[in-house]
Amino acid sequence: MVAWDGACHMSDRPGLMLRAVGGAIGIAKAVARVEPAEPAEVARRIAICEACPSGCYLERPSRCDLAKGGCGCFLSAKWRIASERCPKGHW
Ligand code: SF4
Repeated sequence: MVAWDGACHMSDRPGLMLRAVGGAIGIAKAVARVEPAEPAEVARRIAICEACPSGCYLERPSRCDLAKGGCGCFLSAKWRIASERCPKGHW
């Protein structure tokens, strides 16, 4: 283990900083390109999850239970992305 000497070495590594900024921009672009699901489809997904046939639905916040073979996703976001799918094939 290397002991920290108290100095900030980020200025020694401008390439690292540039890569971090580039990564953040890439994520923002990916998020901006996400196609939203239609409101009727969001409502359909919510209804299915709330009565999940596999017993994977967790409330507050809504999540798909990883311990029961679900995806572990926060569903309030997953429901609203058109390309997302239920890991159990329910929607
Ligand atoms: S995503 Fe699928 S498995 Fe997860 S809670 Fe919803 S219906 Fe159940």
